[in-house]
Amino acid sequence: MKNPLAPKWLEERDLNSLDPKIWPRTAKRNSQGELEVGGVGVRELIRRHGSPLYVVDQEDFEARLMQTKRAFSDAAQRHGTSAKLYYASKALLTSDVVRWVEQAGLSIDVSTGGELAVALAAGMPGERIGLHGNNKSLVEIGRAIAANVGAIVIDSELEIERIASVATAQGKTQAVRLRVNSGVHAHTHEYLATAREDQKFGIAISDVPHLVAKIRSHSHLKFLGLHSHIGSQIFVVDGFIAAAERLLDLHAELLQGGDVPELNLGGGFGISYTGADRPMPIAEMAERISSAVANKCQQLGIEIPKLAFEPGRTIAGPAGITLYSVGTIKDVQVSDAGAAATRKYVSVDGGMSDNARPALYEAEYSVAIASRTSSATPALARVVGKHCESGDIVVRHDYLPSDVAVNDLLAVPATGAYCFSLSSNYNFLTRPAVVAVKSGSTKVLIKTETEQDLLARDAGLSEGTGN
Ligand SMILES: *Cc1c(COP(=O)(O)O)cnc(C)c1O
Repeated sequence: MKNPLAPKWLEERDLNSLDPKIWPRTAKRNSQGELEVGGVGVRELIRRHGSPLYVVDQEDFEARLMQTKRAFSDAAQRHGTSAKLYYASKALLTSDVVRWVEQAGLSIDVSTGGELAVALAAGMPGERIGLHGNNKSLVEIGRAIAANVGAIVIDSELEIERIASVATAQGKTQAVRLRVNSGVHAHTHEYLATAREDQKFGIAISDVPHLVAKIRSHSHLKFLGLHSHIGSQIFVVDGFIAAAERLLDLHAELLQGGDVPELNLGGGFGISYTGADRPMPIAEMAERISSAVANKCQQLGIEIPKLAFEPGRTIAGPAGITLYSVGTIKDVQVSDAGAAATRKYVSVDGGMSDNARPALYEAEYSVAIASRTSSATPALARVVGKHCESGDIVVRHDYLPSDVAVNDLLAVPATGAYCFSLSSNYNFLTRPAVVAVKSGSTKVLIKTETEQDLLARDAGLSEGTGN
């Protein structure tokens, strides 16, 4: 009988199998049943780099960069235009990731001075960088313009003067986009929806014409076009199409007053975190959006603009897994589900500090024992961290073999995006290393944080600094 605590969407499955919708492409079990990624066994990875550990399947990441770029470029080409792809760096950013992006021929989006610094330090040419952010400082704007960034996305009226004054002072002409709040309600978690009225991003549709006129009045600004990003982890195409159509109405109106060469429709394409997730494949998403844009342009009697997209999660997410070690196990009797039932709480050596998404967005994940296979019966489990919060959940609902034991290694797939980048030192946990695996070798992307690193920032412990 199904455990009454199990949600309806949770399917029973072979707990040793690795669903290719969720796991990176090179993930497999070796002859001993141990999980390998990029040809490297998980035990070896943990032995060398500690636990927990973020592991990126480099081949998978690189293939997703190419596939995503090709999907949008091919679709755009079929409809008589081109597509520029920006990797949204906040999903996962390290200097090696920037190099993979650069080599795959994509551009990169950054939204702070820190992200800009990593992109530049890794050698990304300025013209292939886009700068976002709803509260860019003068210093950030100054560094971006000095680096000749290809586009700055304006997010408020105030920023028009701010950017124009810095560009003028540097004697440069800066290309800019204007982020529009299309008012489209994306079907996703409230904190992931970025185009409702009552939130901080973008410009209201009714304000766009006079703000574009203002941008055009500055000789040191060059208007590239409108921008929209409706949210993240979106499975269906209708929100993207609705936003594109609303922006194209405006775009057509703006053509009366001058050039509008481009239209940037943002990112937000959803991925599978569990076997129950059914996102639209990226190539279909690209085709449906591009054809809707082409149709709308035909209706409006305007030329189809060059398109731009900003995928993050769909590239980085499925390429990464997180490895944990099991520390404590408790069978908890739960009687408030109508019938008495047991949930197996499996505590691991990380938690909300390395994956904030379950606490932040009620995100669901799946899990498998990585260090071995098991033929034990499935037990409904909850993987939890070691933080002092009951919301410190890594995997809310999944089955694990009932013989799951202390020191087993667990792997949580689809953690490549928004896990390392959202990580914290809550409870003074040190942040895990990020390693890339490919063809049997391992490269450290981000070093394991040590307690020494943590103590070094405590000014009360540093000697002779006088502060
Ligand atoms: C976060 C973000 C993206 C990327 O979103 P994904 O869901 O990772 O594809 C793209 N554009 C903007 C403006 C963003 O803030």
